Amino acid sequence: MTTTTQSAPNATSDVRVLENYVGGEWTAPSGARLLDVLNPATQEVLARVPLSTAADLEKAVEAARAGFKVWRSRSPIARAKVLFRLRERLVSEADELARLVTTEMGKTLPDARAEVGRMIEMVEAATAVPTTMQGRVLEDVATNVDCETIRQPVGVCAAIVPFNFPAMVPFWFLPFAIATGNSFILKPSEQVPLTQNRVFEILHELELPPGVVNLVNGDAEVVQAILDSPGIDAVSFVGSARVARIVYEGAAKAGKRVQALGGAKNHIVVMPDAVIPKTVDGILTSAFGAAGQRCMAGSVVVTVAEAHDALVGPLAEAAQGLRVGNGLESDVAVGPVISCQARERIEGYVQRAVDAGARLLVDGRRGGDGDHAFIGPTIVDGVTPDMEIAQDEVFGPVLSIIHAQTLAEAIEIVNSSRYGNGTSIFTESGAAVRRYRHDVEAGMVGVNVGVAAPVAFFPFSGWKDSFLGDLHAHGTDAVEFYTRKKTVTSRFFSESADARLFGEF
Ligand code: NAD
Repeated sequence: MTTTTQSAPNATSDVRVLENYVGGEWTAPSGARLLDVLNPATQEVLARVPLSTAADLEKAVEAARAGFKVWRSRSPIARAKVLFRLRERLVSEADELARLVTTEMGKTLPDARAEVGRMIEMVEAATAVPTTMQGRVLEDVATNVDCETIRQPVGVCAAIVPFNFPAMVPFWFLPFAIATGNSFILKPSEQVPLTQNRVFEILHELELPPGVVNLVNGDAEVVQAILDSPGIDAVSFVGSARVARIVYEGAAKAGKRVQALGGAKNHIVVMPDAVIPKTVDGILTSAFGAAGQRCMAGSVVVTVAEAHDALVGPLAEAAQGLRVGNGLESDVAVGPVISCQARERIEGYVQRAVDAGARLLVDGRRGGDGDHAFIGPTIVDGVTPDMEIAQDEVFGPVLSIIHAQTLAEAIEIVNSSRYGNGTSIFTESGAAVRRYRHDVEAGMVGVNVGVAAPVAFFPFSGWKDSFLGDLHAHGTDAVEFYTRKKTVTSRFFSESADARLFGEF
């Protein structure tokens, strides 16, 4: 995370100042402002991150355009081999990367290890490019005429990413973009720049042609420069719904290919026949893992009929048993949220829900002098769909419970949200599952799974305000997003060929 305090670029301090990675070299951005990067568990300053300018971004674009020319002519097999080497290096550095994720973002070490595991799976999925990038051909579309569609890289592709998955989310894009022959510019979250800084040190060891991968640290100014730069062909965004819209509209206006994954409000429907202990486990992981700062976090439980009374007691008891603290400590289940300001914002949501008539089943607020980022699991019961806490993305360890009489009513509640990222249903009834997966308006659905985040080999994304675009992240959609189709219709005039060599047909 970062403080809002800005330092002068020449501030004398022994705190490390990060650099950009452009054209195969580490380089200090010109006249950049600096932000302190804090450990959210201890508030210790970990580093200072430069906030680059549009001119700094343009240097990366020039390098990426040069890198693209070289890289696109390497065979997909050679490109895949680079990814195999990247995979091996990431596997050997996985624990260090997980520690960096915990230190700068706050999630627990097991959670960070799982994130790094998913990051590595993205590289594994991208190594299939010699197969997945193949085109299609149809002979004889007319007499002696063949038609074929080939896939070519799009060009220079940029990704703008959020704070909550410093390792994995950039890798929803980078391995697939370069596997398909594009060059790539990453703008990490200025709140958590350290993990990708280390990843780019690893990428540097692979000796890719200069400009194939570039890292430009910064904030909204770099994002605007990405949207404005004519040298960038495609933009991927992950973050809040508000910024997703800015990026989607800006990129589309400039004629760029764009996919923008936004915020979420994920519902978990619990039917009366759900297996309660497993359901409690699933909800706890979903609502309180990563302190609720996942785009797939379960944020609202919708209990149907008798499910409410069966669930609420065991759920509250289990939530109260989760230990809150520094994610590097072994028995901690819930780490800090990203910043003191985020904690204050989340506590505000809880208080306003209580003021609106909801009932606090578990209160994780810790009070104090405001100089900490800890808030424990919090459960608010008696929430109604019209309340602010039922509608807004809280992005903290806060779970609302809404009660419904029937599955149809539950589906109506879920579908009334402006978001449609992920959702889950807990039940043993195949008929209820069939109805739910058919009618629910969300891009990712879990059946007795609390966090139904698709693995690397499948596409990931939501619907409605959770996603603007058409091609989703990773899986088969990644190859679609990162390639342009070119269709060639061809014929040859064999009657003019040398009849002596061809013979009679
Ligand atoms: P954010 O929108 O504040 O920031 C995301 C990126 O946009 C950052 O790199 C940031 O520098 C940049 N940015 C911020 N404000 C900007 C502005 N005004 N103009 C241009 N760029 C700007 O998001 P965050 O707080 O870092 O991350 C949390 C959000 O991300 C949550 O809403 C969460 O649901 C969402 N998220 C969604 C998914 C998904 O798959 N849909 C995945 C992870 C996170």
